[in-house]
Amino acid sequence: MTNNEDTNEIEVLNAICKTAKQEGKLSGKNLTALYELFGQRFTKALEALKENRVKKYAFKPSNRTVWIVVGRERDYLIMPEAEFCTCDDFYFRVLDREIHLCYHLIAQKIARNLGWFESFEENDELYASLMDEWKKSTA
Ligand SMILES: [Zn+2]
Repeated sequence: MTNNEDTNEIEVLNAICKTAKQEGKLSGKNLTALYELFGQRFTKALEALKENRVKKYAFKPSNRTVWIVVGRERDYLIMPEAEFCTCDDFYFRVLDREIHLCYHLIAQKIARNLGWFESFEENDELYASLMDEWKKSTA
């Protein structure tokens, strides 16, 4: 994969998410397009979506939002605005500009647009300790 495909990935994914949101589903055509673009990463993203492993945490009263993708061995923390994820894929490859989106970010974007996620509300007091917990797991 070359570097100039990077921006393309996000643009294509965003465009497909927009259509999916309007249609309320991922059409066969879009499934194929996503698979062609992301390959194995999309397969894993779809698996996470089907298994309901994408969670949204809203903290009150600050309204801070954190997304989590529950992985096989640990949870991955995602900050969609920054297109940031705590997984190794993101750390090693995205930062090296080898790939732009890890499968967690792909799953999160699709989940958000189609409502395929579980929602939790937590108190702000929990925010700091949860962040510590999640950050520790990436060390
Ligand atoms: Zn990730």
